[in-house]
Amino acid sequence: MNKKLQAVRGMNDILPADGRLWLYLEDTARRVFEQYGYQFVRMPVVENTALFVRGIGETTDVVEKEMYTFEDSLSQESLTLRPEATAGIVRAAIEHNFTYERGQRVWTVGPMFRHERPQKGRYRQFYQLDVEALGFSGPDVDAEQIILLARLWKALGLDGMVTLKINTIGDAADRRAYRERLIAYFSQHMDVLDDDSQRRLHRNPLRILDSKNPTMQSVIGRAPRMIDHIGADARAHFDTLQKLLKEAGLHFDIDTRLVRGLDYYNRTVFEWVTDKLGAQGTVAGGGRYDGLFEQLGGKPTPACGFAAGIERLILLLQDSGARITEMPLIYLAFLGENAAGFSWRIAEMLRDQGFFVEMNAGGGNFKVQMKKADAKGARIALIVGDDEAQNQEVTVKWLRENDKTNEAGRAEQERVAVTALPKWLNEQFENTRGA
Ligand code: ATP
Ligand code: MG
Repeated sequence: MNKKLQAVRGMNDILPADGRLWLYLEDTARRVFEQYGYQFVRMPVVENTALFVRGIGETTDVVEKEMYTFEDSLSQESLTLRPEATAGIVRAAIEHNFTYERGQRVWTVGPMFRHERPQKGRYRQFYQLDVEALGFSGPDVDAEQIILLARLWKALGLDGMVTLKINTIGDAADRRAYRERLIAYFSQHMDVLDDDSQRRLHRNPLRILDSKNPTMQSVIGRAPRMIDHIGADARAHFDTLQKLLKEAGLHFDIDTRLVRGLDYYNRTVFEWVTDKLGAQGTVAGGGRYDGLFEQLGGKPTPACGFAAGIERLILLLQDSGARITEMPLIYLAFLGENAAGFSWRIAEMLRDQGFFVEMNAGGGNFKVQMKKADAKGARIALIVGDDEAQNQEVTVKWLRENDKTNEAGRAEQERVAVTALPKWLNEQFENTRGA
């Protein structure tokens, strides 16, 4: 026997039982994004490695150790599976010059790849919703994106499970000066720094602030704060952002140690976090990246964006016991010579009218077919034998307890003429909600 093949470690299958939840999440997000005028785009999963090295920054974890990079055997170019979406979108915006006349609000969704240690909420292939406002200097669009996310949490019923943290990391010049201060400060505390942080000290000292290592917390807590060393413009930007968020009625914490893992950010950074997922608590993160277009060879173009991790949101949705309202599924069970052709026609006729109809496949007696209908969570079964076919009728049978014992005293099973069926089904579905 051949050895069974398995999925690559850290790369998950999304199975039928979860499919609806994924679609529900993506559909809900799509609706909210479109409500704010964001247009859908889709970029390649593979890009030139240089894009990420230049865009994300050489000394970030992502570029130092998490990218799936390979040489294209034909062109001998170095290519990389995208670890995030922003760099590709900015590359495309520059290449097609689509921010030439005015700012563009765009969004996308898709898989990202990072070679991380797999654990709950952290995978090697994972999915992100990604929203970008290109060519806007803010802080209005910064606020808009945060408010848009608040609306998404509400739409998903997750608003009680997440909180908002914001910070400003100033402009590039502010950060260069601050960097030196941090290096000087942490150099006095080398004995407390762990290996990771010692390694980062001269390469990317801001990331030390992000360390979760408990033994370093008090030293980190006393470190100089970025917010005390930013210029007047960045300060005003941050003040207005706060004002806009307050006006929108959003609660937020200012986390002066919040820095993000990618180098392109400036001024606004924010995260929506939950305490329900252990160490993988960030469900969405983003901020402003006014320098990225230039870094990638484009014209100076201010921009702001965020990414939300879909797997973590799915875990939250499962945790919240969210009940998705589904379309009522009709299961069509049939048996007999004449019943088959008749049933096919009924199924297509009902689909013409917008109904959701699953036809039994693979035969079986009615008992077997009803079992399949139940297992599928169908709301109602249409049963067609030769007798029904002969009379141009179907037998309808409710499958859920709530429907069977409903106040209307509806018959559990009755015959309905095919010509009357669409109207009958619409009335029945409107009058009741099967649980
Ligand atoms: P973390 O601190 O959790 O590693 P990050 O700062 O690396 O997150 P971003 O690059 O900003 O995250 O990505 C945005 C979001 O994408 C994260 O908040 C998270 O929800 C999700 N995400 C990032 N990496 C992973 C991963 N390896 N597996 C699953 N989701 C992820
Ligand atoms: Mg990370």
